[in-house]
Amino acid sequence: RRIITTDVLEEDVKIEGSLRPQHLDDYIGQEKTKKNLKVYIEAAKQRSDVLDHVLFYGPPGLGKTTLAGIIANEMGTHMKVTSGPAIEKPGEMAAILNNLQEGDVLFVDEIHRLNRQVEEVLYPAMEDFAIDIMIGKGSSARSIRLDLPKFTLVGATTRAGLLTAPLRDRFGVIHHLEFYTEEELANIILHSSKVLNVEVDPQGALEMARRSRGTPRLANRILKRVRDFAQVKYDGRITKEVASFALDLLEVDRYGLDQTDRLLLTTIMEKFQGGPVGLDTLAASIGEDAGTIEDVYEPFLIKSGFINRTPRGRVATEFAWHHLGLEAPRKIEE
Ligand code: ADP
Repeated sequence: RRIITTDVLEEDVKIEGSLRPQHLDDYIGQEKTKKNLKVYIEAAKQRSDVLDHVLFYGPPGLGKTTLAGIIANEMGTHMKVTSGPAIEKPGEMAAILNNLQEGDVLFVDEIHRLNRQVEEVLYPAMEDFAIDIMIGKGSSARSIRLDLPKFTLVGATTRAGLLTAPLRDRFGVIHHLEFYTEEELANIILHSSKVLNVEVDPQGALEMARRSRGTPRLANRILKRVRDFAQVKYDGRITKEVASFALDLLEVDRYGLDQTDRLLLTTIMEKFQGGPVGLDTLAASIGEDAGTIEDVYEPFLIKSGFINRTPRGRVATEFAWHHLGLEAPRKIEE
């Protein structure tokens, strides 16, 4: 099974709870988002009001759910969790909203996947803390308005552009989560190592951080895998050598790329002479879903300078050719 997937695996669920920071001050990185949230939370608390609705967008595993939990915690309220694909009918959304307590945080993951009718229940709920319910049938049908407790909706999505405009417009606060730096990830790893009770030296932490694709979920997962190697093959301590050995075996290279990333890059290079190649064509060639490539693989590959997105499609960069040890054809300059 692929170690580098940012999907939530069963092993993550078991452990992520204990590794999740509970307070804004313990949340590493995302400085701009943190600074703003701190002000909004403080202001809302001073007014004894709820926090404005918040939308977080960015690749999976960067800490959106964690931040929603921290918001609830800092506001001294509870978080209810659901997701776009989990709610099929407007009535289900109405029931969730109706069961909230004053001040609660409702976290909706993958909020771009709510269907239209369910989404429409959210409009008056977000704007006026009310839902409109139809009673009766045919010509005697009428709608009545039901008041809700005041609450904060925290939505998460991989791309803000996937949301409809009316939904996006109802969020008062919109933040993009960024990939983490190596130093930030190393700090997250060192913190997690204490919780997991495994000894990691600073160089070992940096080596794992370097190969974590800028993503805390992967950093924590890599730490757990490397710990197993350290235990079985070494004396339990994670040094740079142990981390390199384990990650080489797991086929995560020194930039954090795994087999799928490399397949994606070599496909652009060998099948399409380095590109440009359209997203759908590329997806079909490697048997991946186009949306997954766009939301999960590509952001990191673009950010790290392996591919460029051009109007005519994806292009492998010189850095990518070099990294994979392949010879770029002359036409690579775009
Ligand atoms: P998302 O909701 O964006 O997919 P999560 O909030 O579920 O991501 O984060 C994945 C894991 O990464 C969590 O278990 C959490 O422990 C860890 N994590 C995320 N962001 C941070 C951070 N800033 N500091 C420490 N740990 C973090």
